[in-house]
Amino acid sequence: MVRAEKPPRRDHHACPQCDYKTWHVGNLRVHVRTVHEKRRDHACPQCDSTFGQAGHLRKHVKTVHEQRRDHVCPQCDSAFGQADNLSRHVRTVHEQRRDHACEQCNAAFGAAQHLTTHVHNSGRDGCVGLAQQQQAKEKQARDDALKAKKAEAKKKADALKAKKAEAKEVADALKAEEAEQERKEEQRCCDMQAQGDREREADRLAKRQQQREVVAELKAGKVLRLAKEKENEEWWRSRKEMNGSPPRWR
Ligand SMILES: [Zn+2]
Ligand SMILES: [Zn+2]
Ligand SMILES: [Zn+2]
Ligand SMILES: [Zn+2]
Repeated sequence: MVRAEKPPRRDHHACPQCDYKTWHVGNLRVHVRTVHEKRRDHACPQCDSTFGQAGHLRKHVKTVHEQRRDHVCPQCDSAFGQADNLSRHVRTVHEQRRDHACEQCNAAFGAAQHLTTHVHNSGRDGCVGLAQQQQAKEKQARDDALKAKKAEAKKKADALKAKKAEAKEVADALKAEEAEQERKEEQRCCDMQAQGDREREADRLAKRQQQREVVAELKAGKVLRLAKEKENEEWWRSRKEMNGSPPRWR
């Protein structure tokens, strides 16, 4: 089929709000009305559906309400309301094409929607690769958690070790201090003993001196007494010699 009138090669009609470009200014109007203004001017007379474009409404009425299946498969009895659906049917069922391949595993699908379902489903019928990926992720998370736990435990152990070392240091210092005190005490004892010895010696010497003094005094007293007695005796004798009468006590 050859188009009656080809659009003249002139500049695109570009949408001011997005990247859309078209040769037909009418297309741009429809684009802006339906995409950006979100207008749905074409309402279905048989249900609540509304459409931005008249063509879409016509298709809707034909396929949904009239249940028309104008697009019949040339290779089997299947018929479709929309041409897109027929061509997909031919591609996937008869040509067995699997254009929509999963990137995570070997699965491929004729319909894009089936791939989407596959990729988002990690269950029994879903993507094996995704399931594996999820399992790997979970394993990684478990490993990470374990690692973190181990690191935490090591940190605690190290802290305990450090604490113990610190306690030992303190204990050692205390011990050293005690030993030093003991040594000082001993020294003080020795000093005191020495001092006691010196004091006792001094006492002894003093006592001895005292004794000497007493003895000297006693000696002196005795000498004095003997001298007195001797004097008395002298006096007594001289008196006797003089008049023979006994002396009168003084
Ligand atoms: Zn646009
Ligand atoms: Zn309708
Ligand atoms: Zn067919
Ligand atoms: Zn897959």
